[in-house]
Amino acid sequence: RGGPKNLPIAEVFIGDDDTEETRAMKEKPRLVVLGGGWGGVALLKDLNPDEYHITVISPTNYFLFTPMLPSATVGTLELRSLVEPIRRILHRCRGHFIRAQAEDVEFSHKLVEVSQRDLNGQEVRFYVPYDKLVIAVGSTTNPHGVKGLENAFFLKNVDDARKIRNRVIQNFELACLPTTSDEERKRLLSFVVSGGGPTGVEFAAELYDLLNEDLSRHFPRLLRNEISVHIIQSRSHILNTYDEAVSKYAEERFNRDQVDVLTNSRVKEVKEDKIIFSQKLEDGSVVTKELPTGFCLWSTGVSPTAFSTTLAKKLGDAQTNRHALETDTHLRLNGAPLGDVYAIGDCSTVQNNVANHIITFLRTLAWKQGKDPETIQLHFSDWRYVAQDVRKRFPQANEHLKRLNKLFEEFDKDKSGTLDFGELRELLGQIDKKLTSLPATAQRAHQQGQYLAHKFNKMARLSQGLLANDVKDGDLDAAAYKAFEYHHLGSLAYIGNSAVFDLGEGWNISGGLWAVYTWRSVYFAQSVSFRTRMLMAMDWAKRGLFGRVTT
Ligand code: FAD
Ligand code: MG
Ligand code: MG
Ligand code: MG
Ligand code: MG
Repeated sequence: RGGPKNLPIAEVFIGDDDTEETRAMKEKPRLVVLGGGWGGVALLKDLNPDEYHITVISPTNYFLFTPMLPSATVGTLELRSLVEPIRRILHRCRGHFIRAQAEDVEFSHKLVEVSQRDLNGQEVRFYVPYDKLVIAVGSTTNPHGVKGLENAFFLKNVDDARKIRNRVIQNFELACLPTTSDEERKRLLSFVVSGGGPTGVEFAAELYDLLNEDLSRHFPRLLRNEISVHIIQSRSHILNTYDEAVSKYAEERFNRDQVDVLTNSRVKEVKEDKIIFSQKLEDGSVVTKELPTGFCLWSTGVSPTAFSTTLAKKLGDAQTNRHALETDTHLRLNGAPLGDVYAIGDCSTVQNNVANHIITFLRTLAWKQGKDPETIQLHFSDWRYVAQDVRKRFPQANEHLKRLNKLFEEFDKDKSGTLDFGELRELLGQIDKKLTSLPATAQRAHQQGQYLAHKFNKMARLSQGLLANDVKDGDLDAAAYKAFEYHHLGSLAYIGNSAVFDLGEGWNISGGLWAVYTWRSVYFAQSVSFRTRMLMAMDWAKRGLFGRVTT
């Protein structure tokens, strides 16, 4: 027992004390990873097996291949094809798994407080000690303060997908009963998706495929025109984080497929049998409307978990972002003792400091030319050069740097035709503010997990050698490894027998079956194991041969 709350402290070294292996393990730093999703697993897959004593803590004992989850809700894929047991992944690096939930961290004692329920439903709490802690707990669904969400469905994990699948089938069966009135049948077959981001869009597309490809066969009594799919989106376009061409393509496609896209609309309340939403019309007026519905999916963006919120509060002024835990560019949690705690994936955001980076860049430039940086005057061509550098380092700044002319004019306050140091600092500061966060995607979590693995491997090697002695201010991270840089590899979404890609810099591909297969092969390659790949391939083949399973 021990720590501030005098809880039991977990003995992480289980096993025979006398073997060579356990003795060697005991010498190693204890690395504790919270969460077994995209971020956590990417880290585990690239860590050298012998450098750390690894423990993963997570309430779910499987990794979930989320990009394919919408397919599983309608039976295109089997749920078990999308999961990989964490213990299986841990086997390679000889790590331990504790199925429990992190509740709090005692930073100065290096203890994680975790909770678990025993068979009687009693909560048990204990501490797990760490030398290094990685927080990769992901996010929860954003409720946006809307009433009646207990009547809505979510799509985050396997249970959610299973519930959705059961409900969709149940609605079809009910609609087929001879005692069901016409009006009731229409309601049961009205499916609403709240949120026009990739998850909502892909779910709508999958549902539409199901309705068209399989249901007419299995439920011949149901008339196609009695079934409706609606997407309610608060912005003026769906997929609004994608390139304009991509979201246009998706909208046109849905339009042709008779998926009803309601833009500039906000859900106000979800009732058991209808949805109440407000819609902003073209003349600026707002009207309240109702839509009878038998099913509502809620997928309107992400919020921090209770655990993340607890930590942010505890760290006080060091954490200023309400949406995510802030880290420095080495992914170290701001406010925690340097080099102890890291945060990656959806639960985190990197403080960019674009302005600081560029100011340093300019200082070096000026210094090389033997000039005083404070007297620097940038002409438009110089500014273009600087902007190029910003783009290279901060690809996520790309969209804010599209109109270089306009930015230059706007920030050349004294209309001198040049930007001076102060003007430039202000311009970059504004871009910095716009880059509030990295995207909440598997792609990003994966890159961050990989980055930490490579860094930890390097640090383990360094700390055994002499190099560590030369490290300034004990900043081993900065000495061992470069800062994290996000590389945007493009976004993609499935929209009903076709897929759209947004690869940045104007590379948009959208199209028919060819796109679907490219889309699948991208995820195929990212899929964690050979086992998962086999299972998915078998599911697709089965679906091709026999159609979806509608039970
Ligand atoms: P997660 O993968 O969510 O993992 C979090 C882990 O932490 C889980 O194991 C969870 O059980 C565990 N955990 C939670 N709370 C605690 C706690 N208190 N203590 C310990 N453990 C905890 N991204 C893409 O790039 N492309 C896509 O096509 C795509 N499609 C998606 C489709 C759906 C339906 C969903 C839901 C998401 C999709 N995403 C996609 C987003 C992507 O899944 C997330 O960005 C990614 O999972 C983030 O990784 P993470 O490791 O931060 O969190
Ligand atoms: Mg994770
Ligand atoms: Mg996951
Ligand atoms: Mg995370
Ligand atoms: Mg000027």
